[in-house]
Amino acid sequence: MKDEILPLFRNILLVCEELNLLGGTFFAQDGCKLPSNASKQRSGKISDLKKKKSRIEERVRKMLKEQEDEDRKDDDPSTPSGSIKEKQIEQLTRQAARIEAWLKENDGKTGKHGKEIKSNMTDNESALMTTSHGSVQGYNGQVVVDAKHQVIVHAEVFGTGQDADLVPPMIDGVKEAMEKNGRKDADEYFAGKIFTADSAYHSKGNLQKCVDEKLDAYIPDKWQRMRDQRYEEWRKQGKTSRTHFAHTDFIYREDSDEYVCPNGKVLRFATKHLVIKGTVYRAYRSREQDCCGCALRERCFTKKARSPKTKYLMFPIGSDGVNLTKLMVEKIDSEEGREIYSHRMEIVEPVFGNIRMNKHLDRYTLRGKIKVNIQWLLYCMVHNVEKIMNYGYGFA
Ligand code: SF4
Repeated sequence: MKDEILPLFRNILLVCEELNLLGGTFFAQDGCKLPSNASKQRSGKISDLKKKKSRIEERVRKMLKEQEDEDRKDDDPSTPSGSIKEKQIEQLTRQAARIEAWLKENDGKTGKHGKEIKSNMTDNESALMTTSHGSVQGYNGQVVVDAKHQVIVHAEVFGTGQDADLVPPMIDGVKEAMEKNGRKDADEYFAGKIFTADSAYHSKGNLQKCVDEKLDAYIPDKWQRMRDQRYEEWRKQGKTSRTHFAHTDFIYREDSDEYVCPNGKVLRFATKHLVIKGTVYRAYRSREQDCCGCALRERCFTKKARSPKTKYLMFPIGSDGVNLTKLMVEKIDSEEGREIYSHRMEIVEPVFGNIRMNKHLDRYTLRGKIKVNIQWLLYCMVHNVEKIMNYGYGFA
């Protein structure tokens, strides 16, 4: 089925195109992270799994020793006291053997920065992902949706919780679909078209792909709401429930180009060009004597960063090299940019509403990227068939 599913999906897309259901001018990308048939408990780095195996073996040794002691004390051989323990020992021994066998056959998984990330013994292509409902072991189902009738033009699952690299494969997927469906202009399909995605997609790679495809893209950075006056109320509400200070809790003094912290201390301009992971920041710094012993310290520094003596307030102002972030910030902060971006939700969110609520897809029941991808494409295909039924014949 893995070779048939994509052509089938594209055939339905072709029918949508023939019935004039595709606008072909405005697209939105988003994804939903769902658990799959993989055990969250059986994930970890290689060192974690080795430790787990040692712990189990240690426990088995202890239990065997206890049982031997009990057997020595117990004269009556018909007493069934050890049977439950025996079963437990058997189970644990099998568990340790499974981990050992898995470790022999698999190496650690590496993330995009070359560091080891968590593997999973039940489905190593799935990923441990953070969602608004906690962490799940599963896949990130992505879609690119055409605005006219919310037809899905490309769908695919990825074994990663990060959206920062997912625009290029999805854009290429749409272009390939258009080419297979006989469009001669498939290579230039996105030139001049509008493309929106939320701030999770704001990354150098994704923005560069949009530039390469000549897309009129609207992908905000994570500070966009902080700058937008329309979210003033939302920010105020956030202030009451937050435990840590946000940038908005620091007051800017334009005349002296400095910030005043919630404790009334001044953070002076420190550097104009601080580069971290390709993003350029403008930074302001507090004085050591102000922060040391400050009663609000716990709310100013994250747990990981409790030891720093001074507070840095950093604002992203662009990216290293061609300043794509800065260009995007200017675009998204314009009146036109805000207006266009405000349509993103109404295009893509109903698609997930339909698939998750009406079609009841709340988890992938299969294992492995190929099978999960088939399941995701089937649901997306049914969504598109529904569009044909509702708007296709005679309604377009
Ligand atoms: S820790 Fe430093 S920056 Fe933070 S509130 Fe206290 S004095 Fe101000």
